[in-house]
Amino acid sequence: MIYLDYTANTPTSPDVLERFCEITNKFPGNANSTHQAGRAALELQNKITESIALMLNAEPEEIIYTSGATESNNLAVKGIARSERHFGKHIITTPLEHPSVSAPLTALQEAGYEIDMVNIDRSGKVDLEHFRSLLRNDTVLFTVCAVDSELGTIQPVHEIKNILNDFPACRLHIDATQAIGKIPVDFGVADTMSFAPHKFGGLTGSGILLKKKELIIEPLINGGPSTNIFRSGTPTTALNGACETALKLALENREKNSEYVGKLNSVLREKLSCYPKVVINSPEDAIPHILNISVDSVKGSVFQQKLSEEGVCVSVKTACSTDSLPSRAVFAVSRNRKNALSSWRISLSHLTTENEIDEFLKIFDFCYKELTT
Ligand code: PMP
Repeated sequence: MIYLDYTANTPTSPDVLERFCEITNKFPGNANSTHQAGRAALELQNKITESIALMLNAEPEEIIYTSGATESNNLAVKGIARSERHFGKHIITTPLEHPSVSAPLTALQEAGYEIDMVNIDRSGKVDLEHFRSLLRNDTVLFTVCAVDSELGTIQPVHEIKNILNDFPACRLHIDATQAIGKIPVDFGVADTMSFAPHKFGGLTGSGILLKKKELIIEPLINGGPSTNIFRSGTPTTALNGACETALKLALENREKNSEYVGKLNSVLREKLSCYPKVVINSPEDAIPHILNISVDSVKGSVFQQKLSEEGVCVSVKTACSTDSLPSRAVFAVSRNRKNALSSWRISLSHLTTENEIDEFLKIFDFCYKELTT
C-alpha cells in the first residue's frame, strides 16, 4: 500500500506511543484527586501544560485540552459567538474551512446569527479588500484556517490581524490544524487557535484549543473541573503527554521535514503537469505537503477509488465531508464546478519515500490511461 493521505491522519510516532504507555502505566491517578496518586498525576499534568505552552508561545492557562480539532473548532466558534451574542451576531468566514468550522457556523446561522463568506482570490488567499468591506461594528468573529486541508493554501494571518486592529470587538479564530509542524505558527495574532496532534505523529482523540486568557467563551461541555474551566472532564494526562512529545518532534524537525517534502512535491508537480488532462489546483506557494489536482472529466471519487484498488490511498475533499458535492475550496480558486468535482488530494509527509513517489507515478499513469481513454 502507498499511503498518501497524511493530511487526514499520520502514523503515531514510536516515541509518542512510548510516552503514552509510560504515563498510563506510571500515573494511574486522576489529576483531580487529592491523594498521592492524584497529586503525582497533577504535577506531571502541570509540567506537560507548561512545556506545551512554552513551545507555542502561550501561557499554561491558555491551553485547553479537547478530544480533537473538531471539538476545538466547535468550542471556539460557538463559545465566542454565544458569549458575545449581546454585543453582535455577525460572523465572517471563508469557503476553505473544514466542516468542523463550517458546520457549527451553519448551526449558529439557524440560531439567528448572520454569516458572511469572504471571497478567495485565484491563489486561494483571503481577498483582504473584500474582508475589510464585510467587517461591521457588530462583527464578533472571523474564523479562518491558517492552512486549508484541501489545497494547502497559506493564509496571510498577519495582514488579517492588521485589518482587525481597526475592529477590536471582532475575535480571530485560527484553525491551525494543517499548519502546526509545517509552517511557523504565531499564536500571538489569534484570540483562539485549534489543532490536533494526530496530524503530526500524535494520537487521535486528543486536541488543543489555545485561548487568550482574557477572553471568556461559553463552554460546550459542562461538568466537573479539569485542567481548565472551559472544558470539563478528567484530565487526559497520558494523551496530553503524548501530544507534548508529538509537538516537540514536529516543531524540532519542521524545517528539515518541509524541505524534504518540498522536493517530493516538485517531482509530482513536474511529472503530473505533463498529462494534458491534469489541472494542478494547489497554488504554487501552498504547503508542499498537499497537492490537489483534477483529472478533467473524471470525477474525483472515481479516480480515488481506482487508485485505491491499485493500493494507493489519496482523498477526495477532506475525510470528514461527503464526496458527491464539488469541493467548495477548489471551486473557490478555479470558479469551475466541473473542475471542483474532478479534484482530489495527494498528501505527503517526511515518511513518504522517493520510491513510493515513483511507484505512485506508475500507478497514476495506468489509472489515467484507463479512465481517460
Ligand atoms: N481542521 C482542519 C483544517 C482539518 O484538516 C481537520 C481534520 N481533517 C480538522 C479541523 C478536524 O480535526 P479532527 O479530526 O482532529 O477533529
